[in-house]
Amino acid sequence: MNRFLAAACAVCLAGGLHAQPFQPADLETARELRALALESGLAYEITSELTTRIGNRLAGTEDDARAVEWAVDKLESLGFDRVWTEPATFPSWTREHERVAITAPVEQELVALAIGFSPGTREGGVEAEIVMFDDLAALEAAPGEAVADRIVFIKKRMERARDGSGYGPAVAARGQGSMVAAEKGALALVIRSVGTSTNRFAHTGAMRFDAGSRRIPAAAISNPDADQLERLIASGDPVRLKVDIGAQVNEPYTSQNVIAEITGSEHPEEVVALGAHLDSWDVGTGALDDGAGVGIVTAAAKLIDDHAERPRRSIRVILFAAEEIGLWGGRAWAEAHKDEIENYQLAAESDFGAGPVYEISARVSDEAWPVIEAIHAELEMLGIAMGGRSQARGGPDFMPMSIHGLAAADLSQDGTRYFDYHHTENDTLDKIDPAEMAQNVAAYVVLAWLAAQSPVDFGSGPGLIEAD
Ligand SMILES: [Zn+2]
Repeated sequence: MNRFLAAACAVCLAGGLHAQPFQPADLETARELRALALESGLAYEITSELTTRIGNRLAGTEDDARAVEWAVDKLESLGFDRVWTEPATFPSWTREHERVAITAPVEQELVALAIGFSPGTREGGVEAEIVMFDDLAALEAAPGEAVADRIVFIKKRMERARDGSGYGPAVAARGQGSMVAAEKGALALVIRSVGTSTNRFAHTGAMRFDAGSRRIPAAAISNPDADQLERLIASGDPVRLKVDIGAQVNEPYTSQNVIAEITGSEHPEEVVALGAHLDSWDVGTGALDDGAGVGIVTAAAKLIDDHAERPRRSIRVILFAAEEIGLWGGRAWAEAHKDEIENYQLAAESDFGAGPVYEISARVSDEAWPVIEAIHAELEMLGIAMGGRSQARGGPDFMPMSIHGLAAADLSQDGTRYFDYHHTENDTLDKIDPAEMAQNVAAYVVLAWLAAQSPVDFGSGPGLIEAD
């Protein structure tokens, strides 16, 4: 235990006060940084620049390479102490075209996007009678003869929720539907978009890609088109669909995680890690997912770099590669750094748009819990509640390292509207509210600064996993 905490505990025991682990000067700086963040437009500027000058940036494409180059230049020009890249290698996928149309009993074009890692159909597409299922489990339970030589339609609807909890139950059809339908001899899979929008935008995203597994061509149709298809099927006439997809799985590609550091003054080897992912889908401009995260964590670190004394620990911004197509950047980072996990003090990723942060939760050692409570006290005026001790993973890209016991904090963002735009052509900069984004930066700047100044360790390592 550190001397500062010991001193605070002595006061607490004597006076019955709640222990304050931080020195007054560190709290003062946290409050100054918070006020500066609320006035700062830097996160929005960074996100605007990324989404305007680079646009969307699917992992493994030339746009990905341009985004990496942009990120290195940007972080260097912001003046961080060190900027470097670390490689991540992965199979990539290219969309060429997709067309989904009803051919009987009427002819209608539907708004569709192929699902990532979908194979292409044969030249000219496939056309067959449709068979509809409520969800993935219903497809799994269906006899092969009900599915063979048909086009499968899964109508599962995603429910809107602040914490995004509707996503998991709906996304199973996107992840596994193609493989399950392939086993039963289906010709193609069409799913209702895994999103909450009632606008005519289809939602893309990756299917589970196991090299060698049998998959069939798969696409998502917009939610109004899914409604239309359901009504037509309910009218009783056999409905036929045509699906025409052109797509390629490519040779392995090596992209880069881009990392910037404010080097710590006292314990430079100890790291507070802020994450976001640099890649996006190949539709829209990847503004909410995850241009916003890139802006938020970069701006938070820049505020500390400019306005505070050197933090005791190092603070790193990690812009991960290839999150969307399988967490490849996060996996490469965990593989490269898992043996030094004890140096990673606390990790937090912003990857849920730019809605206001409403809650903090964390997974840290028992000894560090009062530190999280003291950090929360500085977040309360931002409207952030204490979510308690959770299974916090720190965000998707830190998940592979969390398995090894990475101490992590989640700053949960209001995602009520996030899935109206996520992975669609409609994920563009105008969906970001600059004031809400500034609140995010304020939350991250307080978390990062105080975590770097914390007198106790957060306890990364295998013990943290066992503690669950
Ligand atoms: Zn994302």
